[in-house]
Amino acid sequence: MPRPPRSSDASPPTVSPTDQAELARQWVDAAHRVVVLTGAGISTDSGIPDFRGPQGIWTRNPAAEKMSDIRYYLADPEVRKAAWQSRLHHPAWTARPNRGHQAIVALEKRGRLHGLITQNIDELHQIAGNSPDKVVEVHGTVRRVMCWQCGTRSPMEDALARVRAGETDPACTRCGGILKSDTISFGQNLVPEVIDKAFELSREADLMLAIGSTLSVYPAAGVVPQAKENGARIVILNAEPTAMDELADVVIHGAIGEFLPRICGLDDTD
Ligand code: NAD
Repeated sequence: MPRPPRSSDASPPTVSPTDQAELARQWVDAAHRVVVLTGAGISTDSGIPDFRGPQGIWTRNPAAEKMSDIRYYLADPEVRKAAWQSRLHHPAWTARPNRGHQAIVALEKRGRLHGLITQNIDELHQIAGNSPDKVVEVHGTVRRVMCWQCGTRSPMEDALARVRAGETDPACTRCGGILKSDTISFGQNLVPEVIDKAFELSREADLMLAIGSTLSVYPAAGVVPQAKENGARIVILNAEPTAMDELADVVIHGAIGEFLPRICGLDDTD
């Protein structure tokens, strides 16, 4: 089988994204342990903006990055106040899964999905119908809060109700500590068991699909070279070039909603 062109090849590509998607579909059909890594790009069609894409939150407003940095969040009550206001209006509350999420549900129904590692915090994979035990949320979830002091976790909705009732920076009801969404901010360590699970899955994969991520946030992005080192084929689907296009066996620069359903065998009638 001819090797599809890579972005580094000097000659112009001779294989169209549609042909590359067809090759990826055949690999999915032949694979036994497909591991999918998803980034913010899979949820943009659901109305949740990414951070670094052309319309990304940080691309349009670099100051927004402060709310995602644990050092600013803990040190500055004004940053927390702004973060709570922004959580009140988080697009995840109204977002519905899209065809990209449904494609991965189809992959699971076909018995091909070994694991789904997501950098996303919106839980749209579970809402779409993927089994929670298949989903590894390396950056946590926005649907829970966590106390920075005592570690207690509770539903985000309860904290938001307090903000709606007038509290600007609700504290932990158990210990008075600072509450934040149960997501991994910049400057914050990942949960060791969770990232370990992601790397374990990537070592077991025979095919990895990296979908809608710039593949520039570590350690999460490291699952891609890990899978490659352990013999998996790598397929990258993203609207723009990623940091890891060089090591992929197939790179598709295109829309997730167009190509992922084909790759995963989601029927147009589904
Ligand atoms: P990113 O913002 O760095 O990159 C997203 C990539 O997806 C971009 O390259 C963009 O061009 C591409 N993209 C956007 N829409 C697409 C589409 N419809 N089809 C194809 N490609 C598309 O995302 P990241 O690498 O996942 O890193 C951002 C971090 O921020 C994540 O680790 C995550 O924790 C967090 N985040 C999560 C959400 C969410 O939960 N939905 C949203 C924003 C950011």
